[in-house]
Amino acid sequence: MRQLIKREIMEQFQNRPYFFDTGIRFECRQCGTCCTGEPGSVLVSAEEVSAISAFLKIEVWAFIERYLYPFRGSFSIREHPDGRCLFYENGCTIYPVRPTQCKTYPFWFNNMRSKDRWIKTTRECPGIGQGRLFIKEDLLDLLETELSETNE
Ligand code: SF4
Repeated sequence: MRQLIKREIMEQFQNRPYFFDTGIRFECRQCGTCCTGEPGSVLVSAEEVSAISAFLKIEVWAFIERYLYPFRGSFSIREHPDGRCLFYENGCTIYPVRPTQCKTYPFWFNNMRSKDRWIKTTRECPGIGQGRLFIKEDLLDLLETELSETNE
């Protein structure tokens, strides 16, 4: 997404009232719904490739060959035939170094751009409404990170 558009989106989030102005509680319940099911892409940046391969204690080239495929100028994580992430085994096996796209879920622009989309997301993620309160500033930080790092 172009820089100007991103800036405009963030300014709107900051300057207009939104459904998340009073914050949103969220704590991952490790249910795996967002790591399984429908096939999808998870963008992994060059820095994340290094961090994950170091975490797994394998060479970068071997990590890329075994677990990734080219995607949008970088890589995405391969999946099992049923759509489950290769790193999901009763929980995320690379959780401390998981990609930004995973770290920022469910607070993605596409989920938060409207209240209707957010309500749909709440039906998919049982962690929403639980645990820590993310105030608006926290949510804007996560949205900005997701927009900057996972959108062109
Ligand atoms: S759907 Fe929500 S609660 Fe379940 S693993 Fe994903 S983030 Fe965690």
